[in-house]
Amino acid sequence: MRVANIDGRLVLRRADGYIDVERASGGRFGPDPQGAFADWDGFTEWAREAQAAPEGEAVLPGEGDLWDPPVPRPAQIFAVGLNYRDHVAESGLQDPTEPAVFTKFATSLTGHRHGVSLPEGLVDWEAELVVVVGRHCHRATRETAWSHVAGLTVGQDLSERRLQLTGPAPQFSLGKSYPGFAPLGPELVTPDEFDDPDDLELGCRLEDGEILQKSRTSNMIFDVPELIVRLSAVCPLLPGDLIFTGTPAGVGGARTPQRFLAPGEVLVTWIEGIGTLRNPMLAP
Ligand code: ZN
Repeated sequence: MRVANIDGRLVLRRADGYIDVERASGGRFGPDPQGAFADWDGFTEWAREAQAAPEGEAVLPGEGDLWDPPVPRPAQIFAVGLNYRDHVAESGLQDPTEPAVFTKFATSLTGHRHGVSLPEGLVDWEAELVVVVGRHCHRATRETAWSHVAGLTVGQDLSERRLQLTGPAPQFSLGKSYPGFAPLGPELVTPDEFDDPDDLELGCRLEDGEILQKSRTSNMIFDVPELIVRLSAVCPLLPGDLIFTGTPAGVGGARTPQRFLAPGEVLVTWIEGIGTLRNPMLAP
């Protein structure tokens, strides 16, 4: 099952396009995409039937349609640094024994096709798999971890490196939370859509074709079940929460010479089986 947020309304993908969830469900679900997480099991059950039903008008988004984040108002956003060995190495660090966890504040979320105004500083890309929590979960085990996941989506953990690395102790959250620094989407895809949800190609490139990052999620140091175990050992995970799972090698700050995003560039981020997120970079 694949859902999206087009102009603030929850839509469900069907073979012939998207159907508006509020209209198709007679008001039981939608239009707010965040509302579906209040009863994710009920929603997925309804959606499976609605997908197969021929009734109801489907729409195809036009070229100009903006896609909002499929999860617009999560209660918590977890993000994990240094979770791919090649990225740890390019950062000149040792493999972590515990996940390096920080947050991105919710006001940094944006969607597919939305422009990102670049603040002053050195803004870097980080292509990431983003896990969306579907069921409340505290002290999960590896065996049950995936059952708490509503779906997967594509994310960028945009990072202003000067602010990220300023201060007497590491504090990643603020430098990664300017408005638009958490593009998400275009769709949320449920785990059953993948042959192996632990092994997906991910990457990003500039629209002119230069590939910046390319790896597979199977290269994570702490995989998705392990992150759910370690995070939920401390914090209960709530339906609709997000986990940015870390980025592979190829960030601009680790290059020689360093390379950062500039106005006019378009950042294109993809994950196999999920989709492609496109974000133009704009002047401040
Ligand atoms: Zn990151």
